[in-house]
Amino acid sequence: MDRKIEQLIRNWQKRNITGVYTEGKEAALDKIMGIIPLSASVGFSGSVTLDTLGVVRYLEGRGNTVFNPYKAGLSRDESMEQRREGAQADYYLAGPNAVSEKGELVFFSAFGNRTAGISYAKNVVVIAGVNKIVPDIQEALKRSREYATPLNCKRLEWNTPCFPDGICRQEICFFPEHKRMCCQILIIEAEVTPDRLKVILVGENLGF
Ligand code: SF4
Repeated sequence: MDRKIEQLIRNWQKRNITGVYTEGKEAALDKIMGIIPLSASVGFSGSVTLDTLGVVRYLEGRGNTVFNPYKAGLSRDESMEQRREGAQADYYLAGPNAVSEKGELVFFSAFGNRTAGISYAKNVVVIAGVNKIVPDIQEALKRSREYATPLNCKRLEWNTPCFPDGICRQEICFFPEHKRMCCQILIIEAEVTPDRLKVILVGENLGF
């Protein structure tokens, strides 16, 4: 583990956030499965990192109740209900858009289930590749808005103003003329409850 990562984990400790480092994807998946009990219900927000690890598939396969808004065949209302229930599950899983070296975590959200789940679920597990680390909160917000969100719009085929060329045009990005993905921004600076929020930092590039 390099010094920058050791310092980041110490910075999380000061903020009442539990940071755990794993070298690779397999170890990260084992860690997540070890943290979440079989009896727990789980909510999550869409994440390339979670997809890459196959977390939802593993949880569903071993019998956890997973509120999955992306399940094939769900109507829009059913998918929104899964989001609502997921935000109140025993455990909530998410990937951050960016992590500052000082320990702040940044999450952008469209519907708000993601910000709700991360803010208030009883237990939260955040999984981040080392590619998400930037020097400070300004860079974290910039990364989230100008890099990660346009790629997410592309991935999910949201026809936002950044969709055609990846350039954010937030000054015109409002309904009804335009669809917008950056509707809510959550910055976690610290936690009140010890161990409520765990970050599994993976020594690989994961997601974007
Ligand atoms: S504010 Fe709009 S244009 Fe800018 S990144 Fe978000 S969705 Fe794209």
